[in-house]
Amino acid sequence: MEERGNISIHTENIFPIIKKFLYSDHEIFLRELVSNAVDATQKMKRLSSIGEFTGDLGELKVKVAVDKEAKTITISDNGIGMTAEEIKKYINQIAFSGATEFVERFKDTAGEKDQIIGQFGLGFYSAFMVASRVEIITKSFREGAEAARWDCDGSTEFTITSAEREERGTDIILHVAEDSEEFLEPMRIRTILDKYCKFLPVAVEFEGEVINNPNPIWTKQPADLTEEDYKEFYKELYPMAEPPLFWIHLNVDYPFNLTGILYFPKLKNDFEVQRNKIQLYSRQVFITDEVKDVVPEFLMLLHGVIDSPDIPLNVSRSFLQADSSVKKINTYITKKVADKLSDIFKKDRETFEKNWDDISVFVKYGMLSDDKFYEKAKDFVLLQSTDGKYYTIEEYKALVQANQTNKSEQLVLLYTSDAEKQHAFVEAAQSRGYNVLKLDSVIDSHFIGMLEQKLEKTTLKRVDSETIDKLVETDETKESVLNDTEKEELKTVYEQAINNKNMTVEVAPLAPDDAPVVITMPEFMRRMKDMNRAGGGG
Ligand code: ADP
Ligand code: MG
Repeated sequence: MEERGNISIHTENIFPIIKKFLYSDHEIFLRELVSNAVDATQKMKRLSSIGEFTGDLGELKVKVAVDKEAKTITISDNGIGMTAEEIKKYINQIAFSGATEFVERFKDTAGEKDQIIGQFGLGFYSAFMVASRVEIITKSFREGAEAARWDCDGSTEFTITSAEREERGTDIILHVAEDSEEFLEPMRIRTILDKYCKFLPVAVEFEGEVINNPNPIWTKQPADLTEEDYKEFYKELYPMAEPPLFWIHLNVDYPFNLTGILYFPKLKNDFEVQRNKIQLYSRQVFITDEVKDVVPEFLMLLHGVIDSPDIPLNVSRSFLQADSSVKKINTYITKKVADKLSDIFKKDRETFEKNWDDISVFVKYGMLSDDKFYEKAKDFVLLQSTDGKYYTIEEYKALVQANQTNKSEQLVLLYTSDAEKQHAFVEAAQSRGYNVLKLDSVIDSHFIGMLEQKLEKTTLKRVDSETIDKLVETDETKESVLNDTEKEELKTVYEQAINNKNMTVEVAPLAPDDAPVVITMPEFMRRMKDMNRAGGGG
């Protein structure tokens, strides 16, 4: 048998376009071909389980091999295979039109292409990103099927001939193009396999080793897993990281299908650089670590995996944002995280407090950016006082209410944004029996603003703001070491030296041991400054 044909229904030759178009992300050819091979074995498994195939399944697996001499990469599987008719249908028609559609759809979106690629399964024809010629040698599982060989040199012409092959399954042989010889380096192949194929559901062999874990724990039931399992898996994902604080096993199949595990990492000070630690999978095939839109912004610092066949991967970013299942997934994840935190807070407050420094940034950021999250988190967000104790908002308000000496309507919560620099003020306040909160992280200036907005009859004042005087007005006046004239003189001296009308100079010790002169800045001014420093926006 020999058959020649032309797969170009359109006059245009799509291969040069595929190649040029996907220039930045050639490596995904391997993901596409290996996942096709995996699909073929999975189909075999299914046929066997429903009794459509009664023979010996054997050990289902996929093999990747590089031959540097011959300049080939071969992807082999013992899946369902194809007959010549099936090649014509699936490779020449369906896969080809899929690739054509891809090119048609995206050839004018050059700017966006880096985002699209990696989310779009170009499929079988992505082989031509790195190969100048591709052969398929395949034999269907069907009884009496004849092996077939498809050969295509990157033009739109192909040949189908009969072939020699004993075993059921498929070999895809890529004759690597001259400009793609980097892919003949075994290390390169291993790196790509590691990235995309690490958790494929069928054993993938390279250089005699199985490179994947076919049964990652997110595919299992939470009840069947131990704490150790979760920690081990975390190590597998991030070998260098410190153990996680805790985790959430996501497991839902209605109204969308989603599994995964999200870990709260131990944050480093430079948490800004730790983004993109959540990996997105579709049926155990790695898709991307750009999970923006799927995961709420404030949870981007979490680590772990999300696996969902319902996340549309074959569309552009703007479509992804508007997609309703993506929105639902986003909401679901937010809810799960809030519930988990609430649960730990209620069941094990000690652990919760111990980890607070690491999780506070998630919680505060979440409260700032998502009202639903705020509603849940307001009951477990913790305020730390300068004496190291933790309070919920309600607990703290009750504490201050009981201690506050001025009788104004407003409840005033004092805080320090820098316990070291504001040391004198903190001590002064404490010596009068006031509790002072430590709100000194970058996010806290926004957090403070939000608390004031949300909490009724409550203001927060920095411990060195002018208000502290008024707060302590009911206290007995302290003896000053200076007389009134001396005070006035000193005040003038300081005012001239500072030369800033926004500052207030007060000559009177706040407490017996305090410095005699205190310079304060109105709360709002100071807060503006903090905001600017924190880079605005929340
Ligand atoms: P998709 O995987 O989305 O269907 P592809 O372009 O990757 O699209 O593949 C097209 C079709 O070719 C597959 O659906 C399958 O029928 C067939 N195919 C590709 N690779 C194999 C393989 N290794 N074994 C059996 N069939 C395959
Ligand atoms: Mg495919």
